[in-house]
Amino acid sequence: AARGVPKPAIRGFQPAMDEALRARRAIEADLQQAIEAEALVLHYQPQRRLRDRRLVGFEALLRWPHPLRGLVPPIEFIPLAEQNGMIVPLGAWVIRAACAEAARWPGEQRVAVNLSPAQFRHGDLVHTVADALARSGLSAHRLELEITESLLQEDPEDVVALLRDLRGLGVSIAMDDFGTGWSSLAHLWRFPFGKLKIDRAFITDLACDPKLSAIVATIVGLGRILDMTVVAEGVETEEQARILAAEGCEQGQGWLFGRPMPAEAARRLSAEEWAEAARSVA
Ligand code: C2E
Ligand code: MG
Ligand code: MG
Ligand code: MG
Repeated sequence: AARGVPKPAIRGFQPAMDEALRARRAIEADLQQAIEAEALVLHYQPQRRLRDRRLVGFEALLRWPHPLRGLVPPIEFIPLAEQNGMIVPLGAWVIRAACAEAARWPGEQRVAVNLSPAQFRHGDLVHTVADALARSGLSAHRLELEITESLLQEDPEDVVALLRDLRGLGVSIAMDDFGTGWSSLAHLWRFPFGKLKIDRAFITDLACDPKLSAIVATIVGLGRILDMTVVAEGVETEEQARILAAEGCEQGQGWLFGRPMPAEAARRLSAEEWAEAARSVA
């Protein structure tokens, strides 16, 4: 990606640049290899209904198990994969893997998958999603695609058309990290999202700042008017969950309700909740 970039003429800066570039290339090569070997994994984080804590879904989150660096978090490799285009095949794998896994959950919870803007620009996203659903046998309504506001800033018309095609498949679209981008209200008006995920930034200090609870209440009200399910991200304490429930927020995701966990653990949790629901009906 750095080809064609003129080398800086500043003396003493050059070696550090070369060093950084070499390190980056090494990571890139490593990542490329890991993607080809399908060595990346998805962890799954529970999403619960606040009213009764029922498990309603899981968000799939990428992890890179690296022989030397341990379990590498997405922040350390997704930006790189976005810059060099690897995110397109990687993102397609994520969609396939998440659908295949969710199809095995006894409790039939939903699965949410994060999408990068590049997946809208390159490759046939609608076909990728349709194909993943067909191969896995997962019902379309159990798949939720999470996008961020940054996506709608680039080419709103084309993106909105693509989102409509995706909705046409029967999947739902969630607006992730809501409130952190700009002109979010215009985006809500342009496109009917199924879900709004309130960014963690508004939740962290919710219990000690009335301004934050006013903001959260406003987003919840907006969601109700626009017929969108509102989910709070980053719920870590009972106090936060209590405030959110009192304000009418429907769902929560965060450490209070469960950390992202390996696929086998998510499968077990899905089965446990399913058995419990069956018992309470009987
Ligand atoms: P996100 O989609 O907003 O995901 C939520 C992030 O918040 C996750 O970080 C999750 O582990 C973290 N989180 C959840 N609950 C709590 C909590 O109670 N407290 C705190 N402090 N953090 C919490 P993670 O897994 O590191 O992922 C970071 C970001 O990487 C995601 O943010 C998403 O934007 C991106 N990402 C992850 N997987 C994928 C993927 O498959 N494709 C793409 N394009 N992006 C991905
Ligand atoms: Mg997300
Ligand atoms: Mg988020
Ligand atoms: Mg995020």
